Amino acid sequence: MPDPHVSDLSVPELLELDRRHVWHPYGPMPGRQEPLVVESASGVRLRLAGTGTELIDGMSSWWSAIHGYNHPALNEAARDQLGRMSHVMFGGLTHEPAVRLAKRLVDMSPEGLEHVFLADSGSVSVEVAVKMCLQHWRSLGRPGKQRLLTWRGGYHGDTWQPMSVCDPEGGMHELWQGVLQRQVFADPPPVAYEESYADQLRELIERHADELAAVIVEPVVQGAGGMRFHSPAYLRVLREACDAHDVLLVFDEIATGFGRTGALFAAEHAGVTPDVMCVGKALTGGYMTMAATLCTARVADGISRGEVPVLAHGPTFMGNPLAAAVACASIDLLLGQDWQTEVKRVETGLREGLAPAAELPGVRNVRVLGAIGVVQLDHEIDMAAATRAAVREGVWLRPFRDLVYTMPPYVTGDADLARITAAVCAAAREG
Ligand SMILES: *Cc1c(COP(=O)(O)O)cnc(C)c1O
Repeated sequence: MPDPHVSDLSVPELLELDRRHVWHPYGPMPGRQEPLVVESASGVRLRLAGTGTELIDGMSSWWSAIHGYNHPALNEAARDQLGRMSHVMFGGLTHEPAVRLAKRLVDMSPEGLEHVFLADSGSVSVEVAVKMCLQHWRSLGRPGKQRLLTWRGGYHGDTWQPMSVCDPEGGMHELWQGVLQRQVFADPPPVAYEESYADQLRELIERHADELAAVIVEPVVQGAGGMRFHSPAYLRVLREACDAHDVLLVFDEIATGFGRTGALFAAEHAGVTPDVMCVGKALTGGYMTMAATLCTARVADGISRGEVPVLAHGPTFMGNPLAAAVACASIDLLLGQDWQTEVKRVETGLREGLAPAAELPGVRNVRVLGAIGVVQLDHEIDMAAATRAAVREGVWLRPFRDLVYTMPPYVTGDADLARITAAVCAAAREG
């Protein structure tokens, strides 16, 4: 009996069609690098087509698969919802999965965030956050407040508004000069608290207050812009300066949310509530694309006072029931266990396993926070060589720029963690 899961295309045929027709992230067309073909995934392992090789996933599929793949509880939630409906429009209709998810997000997020916009990807949730802030000021008769301030080294997504607040050097601003909205940039936040840097933030916010709608930052960890950590105290500086000068504060927690940094949301490290918060990535446990933009009553109230008193945004697949049902199950799974202890355990494993990397030639810095481990080199990495080295160790990693990093699923066992850190070291050595 033929296995119904085996496609009738051979791996070489798949790869050839892929190369000719399919865009990959930040890829050329036709493709130049040969991707690995994944046939299935279970627990923390990806199974490759053809050879049946299994790789431990050190990436959680870009921060999202926190509970691992093919999880019985998430599968069950998806199957159950599939039996009712996978989607209905959200205009004029509502449903339990979306309402339950919104309620959970409000309950678990920093105090004061009360309203939830369910978006279909992280980038869109950032677009919605920016639209909320601009519209808030427009509605209050201050349409001049339409620029954003951020610090360098950030990443907020690939659509236009998010791109404009990505790191100007790593974020392709050169390519889009004259097209991107020109935003206000502070220097990258230092790791430790420095009063002079706090002053720079205060000064920039004050100077640009009349034209600033919002400050937008990734709290505590800058992810795809460079995997940098900074003192949570800067978030309090931003909160105070924003309040003093009528500027809204947006936290992009798309990468940091749902426990990744050791706090449920990174904002908690500083005890700060932003006016607007974006979540995504781990929201559905890595099952489906969904993100959310939360805001305070103040922001919603501002919008509702306008000449156009509505938030003019409504994606076709807004509130998708299938994704919302899985997101609820993923949140229940997270909160129903002692996730702090699990993330701490991963943190300890990463610290121990990555310590030897500090001694390697070409390594500039090794840093760990929560379930995030980073080895920074003093040179641009040879991505193909580094990836090969990790795969040889039985681990999937995706190094970039001068970084080899891992953010494994929280369910990764200690033995698998040791293999991941060994692979990070191998990739750093050979990249
Ligand atoms: C991944 C990411 C985004 C973009 O999310 P997509 O779902 O890829 O559009 C935005 N902000 C941060 C901090 C991210 O890590």
